[in-house]
Amino acid sequence: MHPTISTDICIIGAGPVGLFAVFEAGLLKLRCHVVDALPQVGGQLSEIYPKKPIYDIPGYPEVLAGDLIQNLMRQIEPFHPTFTLGERVERFEKLEDGSFHLITADDTVIHCKAICIAGGLGSFEPRKPAIENLESYEGGRGVYYMVRDPETFRDQRIVIAGGGDSALDWTIFLAGVAKEVTLVHRGTTFRGAADSAEKVKHLHDAGKVNLVLSSNVTHVHGPDALEAVTITANDGSTRTLNVDSFIPLFGLTPKLGPIGEWGLELADDAVKVDTLDYSTSVPGVYAIGDINTYPGKLKLILCGFHEAALMAQGAYKHIFPDKKYVLKYTTVNGVPTL
Ligand code: FAD
Repeated sequence: MHPTISTDICIIGAGPVGLFAVFEAGLLKLRCHVVDALPQVGGQLSEIYPKKPIYDIPGYPEVLAGDLIQNLMRQIEPFHPTFTLGERVERFEKLEDGSFHLITADDTVIHCKAICIAGGLGSFEPRKPAIENLESYEGGRGVYYMVRDPETFRDQRIVIAGGGDSALDWTIFLAGVAKEVTLVHRGTTFRGAADSAEKVKHLHDAGKVNLVLSSNVTHVHGPDALEAVTITANDGSTRTLNVDSFIPLFGLTPKLGPIGEWGLELADDAVKVDTLDYSTSVPGVYAIGDINTYPGKLKLILCGFHEAALMAQGAYKHIFPDKKYVLKYTTVNGVPTL
């Protein structure tokens, strides 16, 4: 197995806590690589509530979740973290010298000296519509539950299904990329932002998007790759559309996923940790943020930030057992770069 990436700490999860862990590790001159199953950073804040204000981040009387993530990205810039996005970590192996290989669903191998699991509520899994044989077109054969790279759909005929923000936002964006975009929604009004719904209607009026309301995609066809979908209206009438890709966007739900099978001590679907340094039952593996549990645990961003600081100290001692670390204030020392 050949690692494609080599780093000091591999952080699983690019939510707020995983991102801040890069900062705390960076202060100790530890390099980080961050992996997330989602195509973007920010965890729950980007996926569930980017436009909601948060009121309990110290020093910010009010900050939009999306802005907090942008600020965290700016804060960790000096440490040049690297990222693998859109790939779920499936497993890890401990090597003879105590270091690790992490392996993603796309077979990316990351070599690291310590692992920090900041996996939140787990990896976000798509809510899949109940359509017969849908799975047989997954894996690049025409059915996609998230848009990792819009270029995949360049000059294609695509059908997007859904009525929330993702369906609306991608309809607007892909209207400028794909050859033909059809948005299918089971209702007549959209759950997503009103201004996005308005933009989709304008694109429809301008002939750039086909809008099929009060309907569902009910069948998928094609001998190997997807070739067509059947759309059934609420009145029972059907039509079949030739397409290259079908993108059902019905939201994502977090599931603990593979982390639950890594042999770590668990309680209530969370990873048990020692609050001294947020180490798990496997030496060299740490867990911070919503993914961990200990007496008095609060699933708050603030608490995850504190855990990140202690985790970094613990990982430093694990990687350099003979070195003595002296705490230095950033006000005195600045932010050292890697
Ligand atoms: P997450 O944000 O959940 O990020 C974890 C990331 O790990 C995800 O992106 C996931 O895809 C990834 N991941 C998981 N498993 C894998 C894997 N195997 N491979 C690759 N990637 C993986 N908290 C507050 O402090 N204040 C608030 O006001 C507040 N409001 C909230 C409002 C809402 C609507 C919700 C839902 C939550 C709110 N929270 C709030 C809670 C807060 O969002 C969480 O505490 C915070 O997101 C935890 O951050 P995290 O980095 O631990 O995990």
